Amino acid sequence: GRAGAALYEAKRGGLGRITVHGGYYASPIEVRHGIETGEIFVVYQPCVDMRTGAIVGVEALARWHHPTRGAISPVEFIPLCEASGSIMILGDWVLGQAIAAAAGWNRGLPTGRSEVAVAINASARELSTAGYAERVIALCTAAGLRVSLLRIEATESDFGSGSEEVAVNIAQLRGSGALISMDDFGTGFSSLERLTRTRVDVVKIDRQFVSAIDSLATEAPVIDLAIGLATALSLGIVAEGVETPVQAQWLVERGCYFAQGFLYSRPIRYGELVQVLRDNEF
Ligand code: C2E
Ligand code: MG
Ligand code: MG
Ligand code: MG
Repeated sequence: GRAGAALYEAKRGGLGRITVHGGYYASPIEVRHGIETGEIFVVYQPCVDMRTGAIVGVEALARWHHPTRGAISPVEFIPLCEASGSIMILGDWVLGQAIAAAAGWNRGLPTGRSEVAVAINASARELSTAGYAERVIALCTAAGLRVSLLRIEATESDFGSGSEEVAVNIAQLRGSGALISMDDFGTGFSSLERLTRTRVDVVKIDRQFVSAIDSLATEAPVIDLAIGLATALSLGIVAEGVETPVQAQWLVERGCYFAQGFLYSRPIRYGELVQVLRDNEF
C-alpha cells in the first residue's frame, strides 16, 4: 500500500536526510499504537511577553518516545508521517489534545487573568486537505474554546504550495477568528513574495537568526530587517529559541516583544503547564 511505497521510497533515499531505522517509518499502525500506548504525547511551550514575563500563548509540540528507539525528534517523525500517510492521524490527534488542553487551562485561570492562546503546527498535507479548517473549527466548538484563541503555524513552503485548498483553509480559519503564523520565518524560499501573498497574522523569526545575535554574525541585520518588515506589514512578531538575556534585550530594543525559548521555558507536560500558568499572575 501507500505506507509500503513510502518505506520503499525512504530506503531508496527518496526522503533525503531522513534516516529510516530498521522498519520504523511512522506507518498509520505505528502512529495509532504510539498514541494508544502514550509513546506519542504533546508538550507545551509558553510564548511570553519579554517585557513583563506574562505568558500570552502556548505552542503544542508533538513528542514520540519509542520503547526501543528512544526519543525521536518531530523533525524526523513528522516528514515520515507525511510520507507514510499517517500525518492526518497524528495531526488530528494533536489538534484534539491541544484544543482540549487550551479549553482546560483557560477554564482554570484566576479571574481577571487574560486568556492564553494555543498554537498548533499544521503540516503541508493537512493545510492542503479539503475540510481541514472546518474540522479544526468544529473541534474548538466541541471543546468550548473560542477560535480566536487558536493560532495555526506553518512554514513558508507549506503555505506556498499554491493550492486552492490551502487558500480556502487559511481564509476559513482567519474568517472564524484564528490567527495564522508563518513559522521558521527567514529560512524559506522567496520570503518577501510569500509574506505579501499569503495572508498571515504573525511571523515567527527562526531560531538560527536569534542565536546569531550573540556573535553579531551576518544574520543579525537580517532580524532587524525581518522585524522592520513585519512591523511595516502590521504583523505580530515572535522570536523563536531565545536562550540568553542578551538576546531578549536585543530583541526588545528593536521592537520584538514576544518570544519562546529555553530562557523562559522548555516545552513541558500539561500538568506542569497548568502550575506554571497558575504562578504566572497577569
Ligand atoms: P517549530 O514549530 O519551529 O517549533 C520550535 C522548535 O524549537 C521546537 O522543537 C522547540 O522544542 C524548539 N525550541 C524552542 N525553544 C528553543 C530554544 O530556546 N533552544 C532550542 N535549541 N530549541 C528551542 P521540536 O519540538 O523538536 O519541534 C521541531 C519541529 O517539528 C517544530 O518546529 C515543528 O515544525 C514540527 N512539529 C512539532 N510538533 C508538530 C506537530 O504536532 N505537527 C506538525 N505538523 N509539526 C510539528
Ligand atoms: Mg511552530
Ligand atoms: Mg518555528
Ligand atoms: Mg524553527
